[in-house]
Amino acid sequence: MKNIIFLGLAGAGKGTQAKKLSDFMGIPMISSGDLFRFHLGNNTELGIEANKYMSTGALVPDDITINMILHRIGEEDCSKGFILDGFPRTLEQAESLQKAVNGNISSVIYIEVKEKELIKRLSDRVVCTSSGCNAILSKSDIKGIDSNCPICNEISLTQRQDDLAEVVENRLKTQIPLINQLVDYYKNREILITVDGQQNVDLVESEIKNILGLN
Ligand code: AMP
Repeated sequence: MKNIIFLGLAGAGKGTQAKKLSDFMGIPMISSGDLFRFHLGNNTELGIEANKYMSTGALVPDDITINMILHRIGEEDCSKGFILDGFPRTLEQAESLQKAVNGNISSVIYIEVKEKELIKRLSDRVVCTSSGCNAILSKSDIKGIDSNCPICNEISLTQRQDDLAEVVENRLKTQIPLINQLVDYYKNREILITVDGQQNVDLVESEIKNILGLN
């Protein structure tokens, strides 16, 4: 059973790399942010509650987030392993996960990118909200925000509200001390792998596969 965690600040490329690895390994990728956005899109109570925090760049409270993720990793398709993107983000979340899987985390991949580069990337990011697509694109990949998604062809492109400049700074300010704590937490357990996320997407992907012995 392979349980893998991706760690990184917003815009580091966690989602992109987690998706690639999930397709390659044939185990599900679970993104806490996508799950919250899915709930919001369906107007569930959980989605509406989570959005109160997400829209300002704050973290959703631990109890709500932990319940949602532990429920998801208990589902049948996760029995051979899973890849987590965006969870854990706090020590309390890390501890709850550790207990839920009896310490069975095989690798934690930390994608490191400088803050200045992250701000640049986030302001350029466009996402497809069509369920099943969730493509992460750059403004240069599309003709305009009202055009068809180049991946699934639906008209459902948007710039995430929390990628707007004022919110990005707040998100990063909240995330930096927390991620440093998580890096130490997994370093102490000797399962942390640090990858240089400033490289292009393909290089990051092949470095991850090399380290995991998948190439
Ligand atoms: P992301 O798509 O990972 O950037 O997440 C978008 C937003 O969802 C974050 O800014 C938080 O508000 C919320 N969120 C996602 N994952 C978590 C988590 N593990 N703990 C708390 N809030 C989260």
